[in-house]
Amino acid sequence: MAEHHAFAALQQGAEQSPIKAKEGAPGPDEVAVKVTHCGICHSDIHKIDSDWPTPSTYPLVAGHEVIGEVKAVGPNVRNFKVGDRVGMGPQRLSCLKCEHCNKGDENVCPKFTDLYDPAFGGYSEHVVCDARWVFHIPAELPSEVAAPLLCAGVTVYAPLDHWRLPKGASVAVAGIGGLGHLGLQYAKAMGYEVTALSTSPEKEAEAKSFGADHFVNLNDQKQVDAAERRFDMILNTSSGTIDLTPLAAMVKGDGRLVLMGLPKEKSTIHAMKVVSGRKSISGSGIGSTRQTRDMLEFSAKHNIRPQIEVVDVKWGDAAPFNQAIKKVRENKARYRMVVRYSH
Ligand code: NAP
Ligand code: ZN
Repeated sequence: MAEHHAFAALQQGAEQSPIKAKEGAPGPDEVAVKVTHCGICHSDIHKIDSDWPTPSTYPLVAGHEVIGEVKAVGPNVRNFKVGDRVGMGPQRLSCLKCEHCNKGDENVCPKFTDLYDPAFGGYSEHVVCDARWVFHIPAELPSEVAAPLLCAGVTVYAPLDHWRLPKGASVAVAGIGGLGHLGLQYAKAMGYEVTALSTSPEKEAEAKSFGADHFVNLNDQKQVDAAERRFDMILNTSSGTIDLTPLAAMVKGDGRLVLMGLPKEKSTIHAMKVVSGRKSISGSGIGSTRQTRDMLEFSAKHNIRPQIEVVDVKWGDAAPFNQAIKKVRENKARYRMVVRYSH
């Protein structure tokens, strides 16, 4: 069996180390992909740090904004052939028979299986995944641009699709990072009045270039107070927000605060800012396979593109990869780091 390269966190919080592993062959419904590009999502970092209730397993080969080329297909796979350019996101399988799967909401399935942990994600040269969670990439989208759409893109597209609002509704996106800067673009393209909510006032001009009509500095109490009851929906993509009370206060009566960021610490909220105004708090995790395909088409059609910094990484040399991860940890990425692999 041939060997392939990967980068792994060998223990909690560790930097990436080069490793080698045996190449797995695809099962009957699976596709094997040679990975060419992978985005660095903040969820990879939470996983490396084991920030979430289910502890991470090590060595951990993260990465779930994956673009590559099909190199083998299982006997039941009809819609992919060797050489196709494809993408994969955070999910590799669901039960395919529960009430949610039957409605096409596989991302809501209780048996949601991650692309990575314990299997290998896109920080590996070789990924094997069920073909139902592998996506053709529209020709208009170069690989380095398409990679972040597979998680960041669909994660912000899906709640806008699921809780569709009338045109002209007021939508805010909190946390202008990988997810947030795409959220501004989708919300604008769907016809909403868009506001960026950010702890980084230096991001204002770029947030407006992505489609924000307004910008609120979350560290400026006057600006926060002035935004009370202003938004029909807020997508909170911040990896750091702990106290949700100011965000809840900014939601209009009967409006919705959607939790998407996944900080390590437990969140707090003052119930008064939800009860008063009959507001809803929801969560949203990635999107379904249908939403992923729609999002790719919508991005190609509406010219929605992540602003990326491409990092060339040679298998076996983790130094540039570790620098890129450090940039994301320090909130210095503008706005998505994408690794491009070579030998
Ligand atoms: P990112 O690129 O690092 O952006 C996170 C943003 O959060 C930052 O740009 C920053 O925006 C804001 N922030 C506020 N406080 C912060 C703090 N203390 N440290 C760092 N950032 C802080 O992250 P991302 O890849 O967009 O992911 C965002 C969050 O969504 C993560 O928690 C990630 O795990 C989660 N996520 C969830 C899903 C899902 O399915 N629900 C999918 C992917 C990711 P400002 O500077 O504008 O304040
Ligand atoms: Zn992600």
